[in-house]
Amino acid sequence: MRSSKFLIATVKETPADAEVISHQLMLRAGMIRKVAAGVYNWLPMGLRTLKKVEKVVREEMDRTGSQEVLLPAVQPAELWQQSGRWEMYGGELLRLQDRHDRDFCFGPTHEEVITTLIGNEIRSYKQLPASFYQIQTKFRDERRPRFGVMRAREFLMKDAYSFHRDQESLQESYDQMFTAYSTVFTRLGLHFRPVEADTGSIGGSGSHEFHVLAQSGEDAIATCDKHDYAANVELAVAAQIGGERAAPSEQLSKQDTPGQKTIAAICDYLKAPVEKTIKTLLVKGAEVDAVALVLRGDHELNELKAEKHPLVAAPLQWLDEDEVMQAVGCGVGSIGTVNIPIPVIADRSAANISDFICGANEDDVHYTGVNWGRDCPEPESFDLRSVKQGDLCSRAGDVDLGEQGDEDRLKIMRGIEVGHIFQLGTKYSEPLNANYLDQNGKATTMIMGTYGIGISRIVAAAIEQNYDDRGIIWPTNMAPFELVITPIGYHKSELIKRTCDRLYAAFSDLGIEVLLDDRNERPGIMFADADLIGIPHRLVVGEKSLANGKLEYKERSADEAKEFDAEDVVDLLAARITAAR
Ligand code: ATP
Ligand code: MG
Repeated sequence: MRSSKFLIATVKETPADAEVISHQLMLRAGMIRKVAAGVYNWLPMGLRTLKKVEKVVREEMDRTGSQEVLLPAVQPAELWQQSGRWEMYGGELLRLQDRHDRDFCFGPTHEEVITTLIGNEIRSYKQLPASFYQIQTKFRDERRPRFGVMRAREFLMKDAYSFHRDQESLQESYDQMFTAYSTVFTRLGLHFRPVEADTGSIGGSGSHEFHVLAQSGEDAIATCDKHDYAANVELAVAAQIGGERAAPSEQLSKQDTPGQKTIAAICDYLKAPVEKTIKTLLVKGAEVDAVALVLRGDHELNELKAEKHPLVAAPLQWLDEDEVMQAVGCGVGSIGTVNIPIPVIADRSAANISDFICGANEDDVHYTGVNWGRDCPEPESFDLRSVKQGDLCSRAGDVDLGEQGDEDRLKIMRGIEVGHIFQLGTKYSEPLNANYLDQNGKATTMIMGTYGIGISRIVAAAIEQNYDDRGIIWPTNMAPFELVITPIGYHKSELIKRTCDRLYAAFSDLGIEVLLDDRNERPGIMFADADLIGIPHRLVVGEKSLANGKLEYKERSADEAKEFDAEDVVDLLAARITAAR
């Protein structure tokens, strides 16, 4: 490609409304332009990279034996009513009506459509297992579209669905997809991590997310290399702290605490360590008006964990001030476990402390020296809290005896979710009647898996890991061009022009994706653009070095330029570029 014939839409200034580096650089490098909130144009430069990601994903999906399909973007409401998601999906579902007032949605995902299709097309156990994928535009009316194409409303996804006779066959496909995903992200040159993920109402252990590690990531991931543990903080298991619970040593005592409502204020006022306090949080029960969730003062509630307890209403709903008053007769800052008239669920760490401090269910009063089993009933103990940096890894042995070392402790990292694989079971095949006839001719429900990759999100995520103050540094397999030829004086020197044109033809013939910057621009501008766009290899053709039979070569990721003999530059560079693919 010649720059004079290609839309180089680079921008010097950093766009004011772009918060993260990938969004800034994608705008500045002329890859994307905003059309509306979370809706983008892909310019030729951006599309080249997007297509590269698509290509790697397609190759690896094909390799698993998954078959490519193309399903409609617009889907009839009936399918979503049948699965129950027309009501459940909420505000993210973009609903539309046709001229006959019939309801449709723009697909945010395709379980309903594919399950109906395959339920109709596959009839016999002999046709299973089977797997299908597509690469297609999705729309989700995200509450907070941001970070450019990273959390967009319209975006490109690869979604795959597998259909099985039994759990064993599903597990096989799932493992195969796990490997394929790892290959995709490795080939794309990304620093990533598969982590255990939440399975929501389906339960079980059949879900992994793939995260690109980057500071700007919206997810928190807990990892421990020693015990080979990695999980989204949404579900990471908290290890029990403190060994066996100590026997009570203090008397129960009521203390006036005028105006002291927060944990920090109480610790300060009573000169007590935070580990000796508990907080009591009231939420709606599944069958009763209120349930108390108890955590140690220094721990945070994990709402997803709490929702999984059968006594707790899902999704989690906090009681408001009035409801709290009605349930326990005091304000939010004064609740405690002594004589509380509602069911109590205590986090495992909170259930394990003795002589603790809590509210007295009357304003401006607290209890000290409280003990489970003596001053209030033994609570039901449950993993309720979010893990934090430095917590013991739950695989290091469930009890922290103070013997474990740093390598037994969790690290919290930030991640960008670029892929998600999930064992669905019969969640969709049952309501949508996807049945097959088994060996005995009996109609049986198919078992399913679903597998997503955020194709457009990957482009942004890769930049979050690969940039410097001059611009993007593409991993080889994602670069819009592999090589840029930058002439000094293309429009002034016949020799330069001839040399560049010859090199351009030679590299192109060898299948190298080369951009010849034949614009009539100053060298400084051409260098700055090549760096901003992030082309991995650059060849400079100038009169001075050419007079010595040399050409200047620089790798985008290197600090220093090198000189190559003009004679063998094509062979040398072509070999180097193709080897890195
Ligand atoms: P998130 O937690 O980021 O909202 P999700 O769990 O809703 O993701 P899935 O439904 O599993 O995502 O979709 C599959 C993949 O699609 C995700 O792993 C992600 O890479 C991509 N994706 C999801 N939402 C968006 C979005 N708003 N913009 C860009 N890519 C997205
Ligand atoms: Mg989402």
